[in-house]
Amino acid sequence: MTVVDLRSDTVTRPSEGMRRALAAAEVGDDIYGEDPTVRALEERVAALLGKERALLVPSGTFGNQLALMCQTRRGDEIVVGEGAHSAWFESGAAGALSGVQIAVAGHGGLFDADELERAIKPDAFYVPRTSLVVIENTHNRAGGRVFPLPLMRAVCERARRLGLGVHLDGARLWNASVASGEPLAALAEGADTVSVCFSKGLGAPVGSVLAGPAETLQLALRYRRMLGGAMRQAGVLAAAALYGLDHNLERLAEDHANARALALVVAGAHGARVVLEQVETNIVNIELEAASEAHVIEQARAEGVLLGSIAPKTLRAVTHLDVGAAACRSAAEKLARVIERVHRSSGSG
Ligand SMILES: *Cc1c(COP(=O)(O)O)cnc(C)c1O
Repeated sequence: MTVVDLRSDTVTRPSEGMRRALAAAEVGDDIYGEDPTVRALEERVAALLGKERALLVPSGTFGNQLALMCQTRRGDEIVVGEGAHSAWFESGAAGALSGVQIAVAGHGGLFDADELERAIKPDAFYVPRTSLVVIENTHNRAGGRVFPLPLMRAVCERARRLGLGVHLDGARLWNASVASGEPLAALAEGADTVSVCFSKGLGAPVGSVLAGPAETLQLALRYRRMLGGAMRQAGVLAAAALYGLDHNLERLAEDHANARALALVVAGAHGARVVLEQVETNIVNIELEAASEAHVIEQARAEGVLLGSIAPKTLRAVTHLDVGAAACRSAAEKLARVIERVHRSSGSG
């Protein structure tokens, strides 16, 4: 049985071409600043994002946490959108490493300038100082939603007026750019620092970059070393990332089309609810009326379709470059049948 793995876009394996690029990479000791491929990647990503400098880090979590360490002080508060990766999926690192606490603005991962301002506590010595806003684009837990550029601009402008820094968690900024047609640099413009991942839609095995002002990145260089994230011949990883930028960026539109097609099929199943307007990129969140998500996941697995879950009664399917249109469609049809069957057997049919 062929298995279609829709748990995440991180499950992709490096293609033949990517493996060749990785094997052929020119390398050196990056702690001595002597890896030409790492330098080439950092310079290219800094230019793409319109920032002064960029730094290769092992993961998106690493990049986000360096951004927090560089732009906050212990006891500060940061503001994030609902369901933010930095609050949900980074093992409590914001508290453990930077000593900050987290306030939430808005709903569904998006927030506007007024919602940001309402999340900020008054200025007094006995109140935490808000120092940083984190914007996530696309938003993972909210189902790959794009943070609209006008909203982003307004939030960044207000943040600046209030004296706050802005970090953009752009693990899937590639998807946001392809979906909205906006250049990466425009999406990153209002942010001080930006993190991006090569191990999601771009199909690389490992690697993320943190970009921002040279001064902030100099501090990030120190913290990267402190946390054990400085690497030696990391050019092999940078080569995979460069290959991903060259070959797998524009094709994200296919993942988006596949996600939309899957969403349409599953939305037609009894017992499933998909908010189609919110399927903007490569993630589909599927709410189940009655069935338990664990039950559906187990039954779908038996039919060769692997899914994730993000909450009780909520499944998630993520499209990526290792799943083509035909495989995606057939997985969607299997999933729709499984949902209907489990729905009926849960007595709600
Ligand atoms: C995947 C992801 C990250 C980073 O994940 P790593 O597994 O640490 O690379 C950060 N932010 C968002 C929004 C993500 O989806």
